[in-house]
Amino acid sequence: MDPYSEESYDNNHQDFNNLTIMASGSSSTSPAVATTPSRYEGQKRRDWNTFCQFLRNHFPPLNVSQCTGANVLEFLSYLDQFGKTKVHTLVCPFYGHPNPPATCSCPLRQAWGSLDALIGRLRAAYEENGGAPETNPFGVRAVKLYLREVRDLQSKARGISYEKKKRKKAGTTTS
Ligand SMILES: [Zn+2]
Repeated sequence: MDPYSEESYDNNHQDFNNLTIMASGSSSTSPAVATTPSRYEGQKRRDWNTFCQFLRNHFPPLNVSQCTGANVLEFLSYLDQFGKTKVHTLVCPFYGHPNPPATCSCPLRQAWGSLDALIGRLRAAYEENGGAPETNPFGVRAVKLYLREVRDLQSKARGISYEKKKRKKAGTTTS
């Protein structure tokens, strides 16, 4: 056995996914070692792969280094087809109802919270993969504005508030 063989070096170097799976599989009986930053890291890696795949399938195909905020917005609207969050349109009778009493034909979208978290992970992944912070397309103004727009729109359409919960009145009258 040669632990320094080129093959094992290559595998360790490239195949992070397998490493993670092997590590978590073998550490099931040692909770002291099983610190799990891997859930976020794993999600971030999957998001990054999805984004890179999106760029490859783009017409014309794009390199990450050519990517702009406009491409990020394209990616976000592309993801909407996989969304599971009902966003009522203005003409829907359930517009603004958090719990509609019936179904409607309004489109399903990606929830604002998912998109917001996704952009955060991709923004970090971009720089971890060698991108410069100054050219990070996930941090541009257009993307921030888009997310704010989605938040306002979904908040109104779904009748829920995304503001952080404030205790306006300490109304603990539960009797
Ligand atoms: Zn509706």
